[in-house]
Amino acid sequence: MVDPFGRKVTYLRVSVTDRCDFRCVYCMAENMTFLPRKDLLSLEEIDRLITAFVDKGVRRVRLTGGEPLVRKNILSLLQSLSRHLRTGALEELTMTTNGSQLARFADDLAACGIKRINVSLDTLDRDRFKAITRWGDFDKVMEGIAAASAAGIKVKINTVALAGVNEDEYERLIRWCHERGHDLTIIETMPMGDIDGDRTDQYLPLSKVRERLEERFTLTDIPYRTGGPARYVEIAETGGRLGFITPMTHNFCESCNRVRVTCTGRLYLCLGQDDSADLREPLRASEGNERLNMAIDEAISRKPKGHDFIIGRDKKPSVPRFMSTTGG
Ligand code: SAM
Ligand code: SF4
Repeated sequence: MVDPFGRKVTYLRVSVTDRCDFRCVYCMAENMTFLPRKDLLSLEEIDRLITAFVDKGVRRVRLTGGEPLVRKNILSLLQSLSRHLRTGALEELTMTTNGSQLARFADDLAACGIKRINVSLDTLDRDRFKAITRWGDFDKVMEGIAAASAAGIKVKINTVALAGVNEDEYERLIRWCHERGHDLTIIETMPMGDIDGDRTDQYLPLSKVRERLEERFTLTDIPYRTGGPARYVEIAETGGRLGFITPMTHNFCESCNRVRVTCTGRLYLCLGQDDSADLREPLRASEGNERLNMAIDEAISRKPKGHDFIIGRDKKPSVPRFMSTTGG
């Protein structure tokens, strides 16, 4: 699959549920209305859809959500998808999770061939954690991260930079992660979804974060890539890696290799644009994949060049859907 700008689409992110056991302030409103279950793709349909993308050249698949590990029977989907790892059709099957359920799933995830996961963690302070996630249990997440590491899964921590909330914590997070062998990636907030509150207050450009970190640490740019938009530095003092994802201050679209599917089978061509294609209808219309493949090809042919996120006072979110719809 090659888009109109010559970018090869080899990475698929699939949101397996819009539900979550947290209510992070920058991601969801406290009173979210979730989709009726009948609108969701079944796990068998998700498997078929992912397999169609793998047959078309996708090499890496990331499950996300909402919280992927709260989807009922999620393990059966992972066990089934692991066949593509065994045949070599898929290079990597991975997941982005809030870590709340990891302690009970870690061994099974490792057995499915999952070698790396991203865990979202914005603070190491228990009270702050509660304030940010509203419903989260910090100790459970700590247990989950430890269990994943013990199962041999490489854990990368993702931290959203939140002005006035966790901006005094990056040094501590860096040391905590690097002592435990985790990479850390800091992410700029993106204006998605109508949350309770004003995003202008939360937005913290990573250029500023980097400047501040450089007063403490020696950062050296390195060419390390994980296939995502993060740009990495090595920190001399800890020997660990730190990634920056900067959708707002630096446009990373020119190297975009990915598309996203929601739990209702909607294909989004860009995280920061509304254009999408319905894959559920062609998926359900017949047992063969002919119509589905045509719908995918047609959609890829209109993948946009890039996003145009803007954060400003009195502005509606650039993209009305919530991050939990497409899973980041
Ligand atoms: N529940 C899982 C988790 O939290 O990792 C997976 C889904 S969550 C939507 C994926 C990632 O998106 C998380 O790292 C989260 O912090 C991030 N995220 C959510 N809303 C965001 C926003 N408005 N701007 C930037 N990142 C956001
Ligand atoms: Fe849930 Fe992840 Fe959104 Fe937090 S960021 S509310 S954990 S989906």
